Amino acid sequence: MSLLDTDQIRQDFPILDRTVTSGEQLVYLDNAASTQRPRAVIEAMDDCYLRYYSNVHRGIHTLSEESTRAYEAARRTTAGFLNASSTQEIIFTAGTTAAINTVARSWGDANVSSTDVILTLISEHHANIVPWHQLAARTGCRVEFIPMDENFEISDTVVAEYLDRFKPKMFAFAAASNTLGSEYPVQRWTSLAHDHGATVLIDAAQAAPHQQIDVQQWAADFLVFSGHKVCGPTGIGVLYGKRELLDAMPAFLGGGGMILNVTTEGFTTHELPEKFEAGTPPIVEAIGLAAALDYLSSIGMDRIHAHERVLGERVDAGLRQIDGVRVIGPSADKKAGINSFLIEGVHAHDVSQFLDGRGVAVRAGHHCTMPLHQAIGVTATTRASCYLYNTPAEVDRLLEAVAGVRAKFAKSGRRRRSRRSVE
Ligand code: PMP
Repeated sequence: MSLLDTDQIRQDFPILDRTVTSGEQLVYLDNAASTQRPRAVIEAMDDCYLRYYSNVHRGIHTLSEESTRAYEAARRTTAGFLNASSTQEIIFTAGTTAAINTVARSWGDANVSSTDVILTLISEHHANIVPWHQLAARTGCRVEFIPMDENFEISDTVVAEYLDRFKPKMFAFAAASNTLGSEYPVQRWTSLAHDHGATVLIDAAQAAPHQQIDVQQWAADFLVFSGHKVCGPTGIGVLYGKRELLDAMPAFLGGGGMILNVTTEGFTTHELPEKFEAGTPPIVEAIGLAAALDYLSSIGMDRIHAHERVLGERVDAGLRQIDGVRVIGPSADKKAGINSFLIEGVHAHDVSQFLDGRGVAVRAGHHCTMPLHQAIGVTATTRASCYLYNTPAEVDRLLEAVAGVRAKFAKSGRRRRSRRSVE
């Protein structure tokens, strides 16, 4: 597997050249939380603000028409990125969280009752758990979780067993886990779920940045992702839904933009996709998102994925060699660029702080996956996540720094222990 030309790519990301407070050159490995933006995205957004920004759809003047054209072109780019069959299936939202909440509210309230089950994975992000808990509080339905085995894996057999046992109304799962890094067999699980009569929501927040998505091939009923994890802006995300599902769903938010007619008695809703885009939409963010998707596509999702595999394997193998380090996730061939780990006797926050002192930006905590952390009996892990602009040399700086944590805390642990023994 080959690496991307990172010298070239990094020229598009000036932020990566900076140093951090400690004076060290930045090594940005917090990409699962949010990625950086290339110049093309910043310039596309600036260009809109500087030359043609206006509110969309409603104005009959040049700027509004130009903004509307760019906003709708962004929808076409997004439909192309996902291989959706129609732009009407692409709803711009504020992000993955907003998109899942829209489905849980709109589809959920209309279709789910007290005898139903929503099935998900124990490794899910809170964004794909809490909206279902809230739906359960409203309707009396149950939320069930598929567990992992001791290797942090979930087999097709276990998925089929849970689908069989619970006959869920909805199977909502992440295509890739933001903590374990696991990439799940989306097409197989979607097909299994459909065989059991479930509707499927795919949380692609950690898949869209790293792999080719094809909603038609995957037969996704719903698929969601966020702009800021694909080198795009914050404040925008995507809800893809099969047209017949979206058509049958009631509007979630009410207001301007989503109506055809309003009277003192009531209202009628607009066609798709406007029906689900109440209020002024994230216009410039959509334009930035489209620039980001074009940027990634110009490099090639398969090449990006291959690059991350190489880096991810290097992180995984390196961490496993450091005494006292435990990788929380499956083997390297089952995940992309995300690696979470524990260092014996050292809190994840201390690890992160020490690494920051070496210029290495990682994330520490539960990564919004508390049920997963509860299942493995820890409160926090440290997570290093690579992206297309990271290099093997940066991975080596991470590994050196992690080895440094062990050395430092092993020593201070000895000091603390010896002080205690004197007291
Ligand atoms: N799902 C997954 C798998 C994620 O990684 C994230 C972001 N960490 C989310 C959902 C939520 O995304 P956002 O905060 O952009 O709404």
